[in-house]
Amino acid sequence: MTNLLDGKSLAALHERELTDRVTALKTRNGGQTPVLATILVGDDPSSAVYVRMKGNACRRVGMDSRAITFSSSATTEEVLSQIDQLNADPDVHGILLQHPVPAHVDERACFDRISVAKDVDGVTSHGFGLMALGEPAFGSATPAGIMRLLSHYQIDVSGKRAVIVGRSPILGKPMALMLANANATITLCHSKTVNLEAEVRRAQLVVGAVGKPNFIPSEWIGNGAIVVDAGYHVGGIGDIESGDLLDRCAAVTPVPGGVGPMTISTLISQTVTAAERAAQSA
Ligand code: NAP
Repeated sequence: MTNLLDGKSLAALHERELTDRVTALKTRNGGQTPVLATILVGDDPSSAVYVRMKGNACRRVGMDSRAITFSSSATTEEVLSQIDQLNADPDVHGILLQHPVPAHVDERACFDRISVAKDVDGVTSHGFGLMALGEPAFGSATPAGIMRLLSHYQIDVSGKRAVIVGRSPILGKPMALMLANANATITLCHSKTVNLEAEVRRAQLVVGAVGKPNFIPSEWIGNGAIVVDAGYHVGGIGDIESGDLLDRCAAVTPVPGGVGPMTISTLISQTVTAAERAAQSA
């Protein structure tokens, strides 16, 4: 029987646990509320929606968010200076810079300016390196959320042939390393991969992280595979064509309601952890 990997329900369950942790933290910490600072640069409507959803999730668990917005003409220096202020602010526990920023802003420089202790979205080179080496670090929120979803459904990836389609720094690459750290055998595909179809056909676990609607045809996916679709496009379409996958795969993430809610839940969870650590070291 196919496991529907229900990220929406799991995220709701995690939010109940997080609410308890936030309440306990506030009690121990003289009422101080954990705060996630979000930085949005430009006027991309999808990014604005994602940032709003993250702020709403903070409030649902009793945290605060501080929304900082820049116009699309903002410079790298202005964003860096804002990140410096947030790094130095003891009332801020996590910093999220919404990806993507406008092309003229140096996104990598901005990500890497975030202090590792507040890198709750797992975007810094330092955090990525620690995660890759299997050292403690906040993982990149989307792949870390996928790992939590697989773990909740007791899907053991050890020894499985995992094929990840997409190698972005926030999704495909960290996904590949997290799966390798969990003992999967990984193939990381991208736009220069020769014969993508053959790679996907061999996969026991497929992760769609391409950013193109229905890019991977369902007929490429083998019977009994585990299918994780990180894509989300207008009309509730993912990067992987859903077709008959529910009838013949071992596990499938729905779109929507699979990976998306787990990304937000992981971001919030990592912010609460950052706030707990800050309280301990105060
Ligand atoms: P991205 O930065 O645009 O990266 C896309 C990747 O796909 C690149 O590595 C690219 O390869 C690869 N690609 C493009 N065309 C290809 C082709 N013809 N064959 C094979 N690979 C190809 O995208 P992203 O930020 O990682 O996001 C990917 C998807 O995940 C999007 O749908 C996005 O909306 C979704 N996403 C969802 C969440 C969530 O919370 N649910 C969070 C983040 C992203 P090259 O490296 O060679 O260019």
